[in-house]
Amino acid sequence: MKNFAILGGGIGGLSLAIALQKKGLQVTVYESAPVYKPLGAGLGLAANAVKAYQEIGISDRVVEAGKKLKHAFGKEPDGKIISQTDIEAMTDRFGVLNSFTIHRADLHEVLFGLLNPGTVINGKSAVGVSQDSEGVSVSFSDGTSAKADYLIAADGVHSVVRQSLLPGSAPRYAGYTCWRAVTDGLPEGMNPDEMSETWGRGRRFGVVPLTGNRVYWFATLNAPPNDPAMRAARRNELRQFFDGFHFPIPQLLDMTRDDQIIWNDIIDLKPINRFAFGRMVLIGDAAHATTPNLGQGACMAIEDAATLANALEDYEPEIAFRKFESFRIRRTTQIVNQSWNLGRIAQLENPLLMRLRNGIFRLLPESMIHAQLRDLYTVSFRP
Ligand SMILES: Cc1cc2nc3c(=O)[nH]c(=O)nc-3n(C[C@H](O)[C@H](O)[C@H](O)COP(=O)(O)OP(=O)(O)OC[C@H]3O[C@@H](n4cnc5c(N)ncnc54)[C@H](O)[C@@H]3O)c2cc1C
Repeated sequence: MKNFAILGGGIGGLSLAIALQKKGLQVTVYESAPVYKPLGAGLGLAANAVKAYQEIGISDRVVEAGKKLKHAFGKEPDGKIISQTDIEAMTDRFGVLNSFTIHRADLHEVLFGLLNPGTVINGKSAVGVSQDSEGVSVSFSDGTSAKADYLIAADGVHSVVRQSLLPGSAPRYAGYTCWRAVTDGLPEGMNPDEMSETWGRGRRFGVVPLTGNRVYWFATLNAPPNDPAMRAARRNELRQFFDGFHFPIPQLLDMTRDDQIIWNDIIDLKPINRFAFGRMVLIGDAAHATTPNLGQGACMAIEDAATLANALEDYEPEIAFRKFESFRIRRTTQIVNQSWNLGRIAQLENPLLMRLRNGIFRLLPESMIHAQLRDLYTVSFRP
């Protein structure tokens, strides 16, 4: 039987491994982290991710580990509402759970639990790959190597595989940096069914309730790349950056410990025009990393998993990889570009343009928002 190596045990790699095992294929996941640790902050997964998990056959298990919300708001720093979405009404309209939130660690735990034991081998950091007519070979930093018939690279935005196949395909900096954390509790008086994103001057603050009365928050700020002051900034500095922002933002910052805060610059991958390379294929962030403005990076990785598994059911692997590529490139490129552009608008610093932007967002007819969401959520998984 043909065997598949998946490089990277993130959301994309694990989702694909489950999907392939459900189709009776032989899979091993090689993951660089020495041991599994419950890392990361929160995630919002939209209807298209729920649909993709339905296609894989595990949506109930994933959704029950997350939290369903009722409303999403766009706000100004003083709390004035710019936009609002009735999440439950959207769920009714589109016939699938519109969005839910989940702690990354909880999602990983669910996905791990659905794999055959021994599928993931930790402590395997790939440093090189090669292929010939017989198969693929991956060499690891510990001096070992692995062979397989085919390789699926799900090794994230800095993908070693992509950078060896497409030298120069390095990530690009979006112009803003980001802090994230998950609190241990909920500020008194905060509505646990509402998420919000508040747009200030060159900065944003997102509030995303999770299960267990925890809150995932994220904060962005325009800054030079890899800035030492940003790298060092934690709760006290964030209190200053977001001074005067409405409830519950100061309260959330006050209840967060410095060691709970994760920092990174926001990067993506300028769209590439090739995912399939003979016996190898790129998926998830390795293929099409996007800025988080649309909350679609993980959703796209999950869509990839459902789509590639179906393609492998219908075609020989090398053909399936090419079918997957031509089926996915247009959609993922659109998302990457839309998200990049939204980020530029959301991070505006000019007060006049900000007022204009907020005014336009307030006037957007609901039908236009629905049409945009319909495009995003109308997705098929069989190339
Ligand atoms: C601030 C922020 C907020 C976000 N919010 C959302 C959101 O709300 N909704 C959403 O859908 N998306 C969101 N995303 C995007 C989402 O996190 C990613 O798109 C998603 O994690 C991609 O999954 P992946 O499996 O492709 O890559 P990753 O999750 O990056 O996984 C890659 C895996 O490969 C491993 N690896 C890396 N290199 C090697 C190597 N050389 N050898 C072996 N293993 C390797 C890594 O350890 C990792 O486990 C957000 C991203 C950011 C930065």
